[in-house]
Amino acid sequence: KMPHFDYTPPPYTGPSAAEISKKRKEYLSPSIVHLFKNPLNLVDGKMQYLYDENGRRYLDAFGGIATVCCGHCHPDVVAAIINQTKRLQHSTVLYLNHAIADFAEALASKLPGDLKVVFFTNSGTEANELALMMARLYTGCHDIISLRNGYHGNAAGTMGATAQSNYKFNTVQIGVHHALNPDQYRGVFGSDGVKYAGDVQEIIDYGTCGRVAGFIAEAIQGVGGILELAPGYLPAVYSSIRKAGGLCIADEVQSGFARTGSHFWGFEAHDVVPDIVTMAKGIGNGIPIGAVVTTPEIAKVLTYRTYFNTFGGNPVCAAGGLAVLRVIEKEKLQQNAFVVGSYLKERLTSLKDKHEIIGDVRGRGLMLGIELVTDRQLKTPAKAEILHLMDQMKELGVLVGKGGFHGNVFRITPPLCFTKEDADFLVDVMDYTLSKM
Ligand code: PMP
Repeated sequence: KMPHFDYTPPPYTGPSAAEISKKRKEYLSPSIVHLFKNPLNLVDGKMQYLYDENGRRYLDAFGGIATVCCGHCHPDVVAAIINQTKRLQHSTVLYLNHAIADFAEALASKLPGDLKVVFFTNSGTEANELALMMARLYTGCHDIISLRNGYHGNAAGTMGATAQSNYKFNTVQIGVHHALNPDQYRGVFGSDGVKYAGDVQEIIDYGTCGRVAGFIAEAIQGVGGILELAPGYLPAVYSSIRKAGGLCIADEVQSGFARTGSHFWGFEAHDVVPDIVTMAKGIGNGIPIGAVVTTPEIAKVLTYRTYFNTFGGNPVCAAGGLAVLRVIEKEKLQQNAFVVGSYLKERLTSLKDKHEIIGDVRGRGLMLGIELVTDRQLKTPAKAEILHLMDQMKELGVLVGKGGFHGNVFRITPPLCFTKEDADFLVDVMDYTLSKM
């Protein structure tokens, strides 16, 4: 039974799912992925719930792809956006505006060490593009090392750093090397992070002139199927990269903003301090904004010329972002992600004893993955099964995401206000759906 939730969305009088579907086919890009047999027309959102055109409620266990951290339309975030929209909707970095400066200061206070200079962007892709460019400018080198199965964006540079053929259109990726993924489920060295790190040293030794621009990785690969880097990996790699003169970039687009529960940033669980941190998604609870944070020393590379984007640090997005940071603090969302996430992971892990199709349950906080396989020994990806299961779960009122190179991993990345009752409902629906396979 779905947990009680006190909210009734206003009546909807707009076009139906069928009508929108028709328009979508004719006018929207064919690259858009259709998750369900009958597309879902979502018209309202309130905290961890979404509502369709008929007012039907769904538990959002995907959180807008790990984006909605405070909850859909959180009143404090909505109020901050509306207030700022009424005063000034747009201003560029050519002028002063307090919303932008206040947000930069608040963001910097969440980062360790000397990481305190903020550049605002409009997305995760742009944040990573800028980070790669900064590493190249700072070091005077071109070679970047990223991980196989990583995802960093869809523009020229970030698509090059991305290492999953599903997301690659470009074939030119000069100076990018993809290292062995420290994947604890399928990787050749199991959970021995230091052994995987040896591959990065090999790339430096045999694939470059011995000097590199930098290394970029997610602490937990999101699109790649919620894979947490093997322990010991990042410290060893950071040491190799720094010896080769490179900068270490943490892509916190998915794993940042308290999602992992144990820490505010994903990299913190690995006991490293990056030189550049990139972020988006959770930063704005769904508003389009991203950021790059680095040290004053590295930031100097952008003083050679004018580095500029029209919308970066838009005051409305900045006001929303500041409200997000306050809500995370006020509502103790990191602690909640830790408590509810640990509980949910335990319950999902227990499903493994019952359902042979579950090959692996992994992740941290409210960033969890369940890898489905048709053969546990061979780890054969259950590709067709997962689509059917997602569809069935949707019919019962639960929306989950999917990812992984083979597309056989459930991604559970709900708003961080997720409750234990929500976790129980999700597990019960998944259990029931798996039983009916
Ligand atoms: N990095 C990571 C880790 C991501 O998950 C994504 C988006 N899925 C990006 C970068 C790109 O962000 P955006 O879609 O906002 O450009």
